[in-house]
Amino acid sequence: MDPAYAAHNAAVDRMRAAYAALPPDAPVRLAKRTSNLFRFRDQGGAGLDVSGLGGVLAVDPAARTADVQGVATYETIVDATLPHGLMPFVVPQLKTITLGGAVTGLGIESSSFRAGLPHESVREMDILTGDGQVVRAAPGNEHADLFETFPNSYGTLGYAVKLTIDLAPVKPYVRLRHVRFTDAAACFAALGEACAPGGPDFVDGTVFGPDELYLTLGEFVDEAPAVSDYTGMDIYYQSLRRREVDHLTVRDYLWRWDTDWFWCSRAFGVQQRAVRALWPRRLRRSDVYRRLVAFDRRHRLSARVGAWRGRPPEEPVVQDVEIPLDRAAEFLDFFLREVPITPVWLCPLRLLRSRPWPLYPLAAGELYVNFGFWSSVPLAPGQEDGHHNRLIEGMVSTLGGHKSLYSTVHYPEDEFWRLYHGEAYAPVKAAYDPKGRLPDLYAKCAGAR
Ligand SMILES: Cc1cc2nc3c(=O)[nH]c(=O)nc-3n(C[C@H](O)[C@H](O)[C@H](O)COP(=O)(O)OP(=O)(O)OC[C@H]3O[C@@H](n4cnc5c(N)ncnc54)[C@H](O)[C@@H]3O)c2cc1C
Repeated sequence: MDPAYAAHNAAVDRMRAAYAALPPDAPVRLAKRTSNLFRFRDQGGAGLDVSGLGGVLAVDPAARTADVQGVATYETIVDATLPHGLMPFVVPQLKTITLGGAVTGLGIESSSFRAGLPHESVREMDILTGDGQVVRAAPGNEHADLFETFPNSYGTLGYAVKLTIDLAPVKPYVRLRHVRFTDAAACFAALGEACAPGGPDFVDGTVFGPDELYLTLGEFVDEAPAVSDYTGMDIYYQSLRRREVDHLTVRDYLWRWDTDWFWCSRAFGVQQRAVRALWPRRLRRSDVYRRLVAFDRRHRLSARVGAWRGRPPEEPVVQDVEIPLDRAAEFLDFFLREVPITPVWLCPLRLLRSRPWPLYPLAAGELYVNFGFWSSVPLAPGQEDGHHNRLIEGMVSTLGGHKSLYSTVHYPEDEFWRLYHGEAYAPVKAAYDPKGRLPDLYAKCAGAR
């Protein structure tokens, strides 16, 4: 047997043994070094050993597929596939998002309007299920029900340990065109046109205010007159406002948002030239900033400093929501009025396949716009924590949209199960985790753990 696969099997055996050794009522979690979740609850427990499950086992350039372990980060995957002139169909923007995390927790990027979501280019997955078995789930096989319900199950049915994914060809460079709009209706109309067949390879957008919106249209090219570098002193999101055309290597394009965690590195002063010059380049990464935020939340540092300075308490509003294109301008208008956070990230997406996925029922064929916003807003007297997040949840439902579950969730339980198709989840949960060793989806995303 290929040594890489033998080592993989040994790592899966270790993980399975660690799971079997846990007391039946012990909380279960993965002992991963990184996370991109935005729920900072103490999950307790030691965590399952996933060492040896973070690599790419093989890339098959002829078949354009890769066998990837469940906790391989996209940074690792891209480093393994680009030398073959290939990339995953959808590469989420943050380097430490893992393939297993993006498939079970959903992912999105500027290729999603034509390539769908990361789980749509998975051929099959080996999953350590809640009842301790390792099964291979694929469309049409005896575990097809698990394959269907795994996306958006957030590790509550089991953990993916190996996945076979399809890869797409790349060219060496991406040519970017940043197009400015002064009103939302025109911007969303242009976004719809850009996502029609024959359009660019990549589409995303950035909103700085109601009259300053940019669409960024990216196209693979073989040559570039010169390439920009936003891992140094220059900052990618600021470049949208000053350049109409830009070129990046394909690798730098894929990680353009990671260096400054979109724009969220601002909170640490890293965008001030003096601080940036001193902040080591290797530490200008989303996982470093996320660790700083986790530390701050755990110790309530900024909350205490704010209270000491007499500032109102703040509510974190860190969410990604998907709204049908024809209601997108309405959502943005509401958002900028009620939750004044800018910038806001826009990313169009459309399912690749022609029927919905059960636990995240986006309509097949419909173009949605993902709105990403990651900040906090002051609470006015009388407003309780969760006020703005609840307003957003309400508006998302009114407009026929969906909300990702990687951050705080306030839906009451019955509404949650209606929105995320509890009737499709329950039988699969009962089949693969009959003793309820893993929390259920509502408990994990909205409940106490
Ligand atoms: C500021 C911010 C911006 C974001 N922007 C984007 C974005 O633009 N595009 C995008 O795609 N995503 C985005 N995300 C969300 C991110 O993709 C999801 O949170 C994803 O689930 C994180 O994956 P991870 O590998 O870091 O997993 P973790 O954060 O470690 O875990 C996420 C969940 O997945 C489960 N899980 C992890 N690995 C596995 C596995 N192998 N098998 C089964 N379950 C597993 C965990 O139990 C947990 O419930 C963003 C998140 C934040 C905080």
